Amino acid sequence: MEHVGLSASEVRRRIAAELEDDVPWNRVLNSICTEPHPLAVEMAAAAARTNLGDVRIFRGTKRIEREVVRILLSFLGGPTGSGTLVSGGTEANLLSMAAARESARADGRLTDRPEVIVSSTVHFSFAKIFAILGLTPVVVPVDDSLRLPADEVLRQVTEHTVAVVATAGSSEFGVVDDVETIASRLAGLGPHLHVDAATGGFIIPFARELGRELPRFDFSVDGVDSITIDPHKYGLAPVPAGVILFREPEGAQRFAFDSFFKDTPTHHTLLGTRPGSAAVATYAVLEHLGRSGFLAVTRHNYEVTDHLVARLREAGHELFVEPQLNIVVVRMPHAARISERLEELGWIASTSTRFVETLRLVVARHVTTEMVDAFLPVLERARRDVAAEVAYP
Ligand SMILES: *Cc1c(COP(=O)(O)O)cnc(C)c1O
Repeated sequence: MEHVGLSASEVRRRIAAELEDDVPWNRVLNSICTEPHPLAVEMAAAAARTNLGDVRIFRGTKRIEREVVRILLSFLGGPTGSGTLVSGGTEANLLSMAAARESARADGRLTDRPEVIVSSTVHFSFAKIFAILGLTPVVVPVDDSLRLPADEVLRQVTEHTVAVVATAGSSEFGVVDDVETIASRLAGLGPHLHVDAATGGFIIPFARELGRELPRFDFSVDGVDSITIDPHKYGLAPVPAGVILFREPEGAQRFAFDSFFKDTPTHHTLLGTRPGSAAVATYAVLEHLGRSGFLAVTRHNYEVTDHLVARLREAGHELFVEPQLNIVVVRMPHAARISERLEELGWIASTSTRFVETLRLVVARHVTTEMVDAFLPVLERARRDVAAEVAYP
């Protein structure tokens, strides 16, 4: 910060120069987040002053948050549930685990060593959450299809289990757990069943409508207690926007802390002061696109995914897993070095080396078939360059 403030034009110039250095979307193949919808950006700016931590002032913004929750609950088959708009999937997952623990306490099931059953590919946000909340993870290895095996979950349930986490679209592989079978195995046993649909929440319902074979994962499945969905990923809202939803009308109130200010209501989120712009932007995109708009976005994403898969196969590549969502994982020796080389050549891809070396390519709204066609020759060049390096180190 300068002692004497800079002119607005100088500030704009400096910031524009830095933003200019960000990688343009047409070179980005690793990101589940995408260019937000222009109307959402406009409305977020209009609501930049709002703070959902003070609903005495921002009454209208609070109504919009409630509306976002209502729309998403009915979209995910739980119209009588509850929920909150939060900063993203991490906070949503954290609130689900906090609620699960409170629910076990209320039912007299909380022991001195509360455990949560997760799959070996569960999102890393849960590692943070378990560290913060002092919960013990019980990690179940995924099966050959990269899914959480329902029978093994059942075997791991003990008196300590407060929750089980299923994933509707793993961020690494885009694989959707068999939520129905997991829920049916857990019926009547007590643990809270949370579905992390941060990746798949805005894809699966529309993909099913388009005739893709994908399992149900939402509140239409008996036994699903809470769902994380991330508008700032496939929901086309600007960062930060995540939502935690509960089947129970009181679910969102289980995590409850009084503020010490007169007349300000109890807080149900980790953040105190929090952006109303996120609620407004999410509302704008949900209402403006509607089901038909999201269907069109989903159709686009699958057309590009199918094109990418076909072109990769033509070029002799082998996929590590048949893509269910818009994440394409390609077996590729030296993937990490190839990804570095791609970055030198201007393209951002990602890798996963959990099982074998793979290059991971994510299709979101900004990815087009033209972009895929421009990328593939660069990928072949990167592979040749790395093959030469390996042969003659
Ligand atoms: C992105 C993601 C998260 C974390 O959400 P953030 O919005 O990054 O905090 C959690 N789980 C899954 C499956 C995700 O894709």
